[in-house]
Amino acid sequence: MDETENAAETKPKRKRGRQQRVWGNGAAAEVAKAVQQTGITLEQLLAFARELKAPDPEEAAKKAAEKAHAAESRRQMVQMAKDYEAQIAQRQMDCRHVKENGRSAVVGQVHSDGLVHPLCQRCQKAFTPRKPTHEEMPTGLQTV
Ligand SMILES: [Zn+2]
Repeated sequence: MDETENAAETKPKRKRGRQQRVWGNGAAAEVAKAVQQTGITLEQLLAFARELKAPDPEEAAKKAAEKAHAAESRRQMVQMAKDYEAQIAQRQMDCRHVKENGRSAVVGQVHSDGLVHPLCQRCQKAFTPRKPTHEEMPTGLQTV
């Protein structure tokens, strides 16, 4: 505690204009006013505040453990997503894209890009979009 008092004595006082900072109203303004009267510099007060805010080792260890736990959870989530994607890829590789009655399980719709987007109804594999044939084009308004 004496350290801060001694330091305050040895440090030259700043010009009043620079010391006055906008603190607004409330507790911070009260403290700032009191600090100016004691001669403690703002830097000393801030250093003191930082020291108060510094977490104790137990708290720091707890936070580190929580952080490690969150990182592990994230890693597991990513792995699960990768496994799921691999499973889908394998199912699509194993699929013959054929219905039980022997007909093609691939269906398609013309999207706004004007292309047919073929899709297997069994494994949900999306094939490369292609131009629709004349028969596949939507007929639109019937005039007759
Ligand atoms: Zn399929």
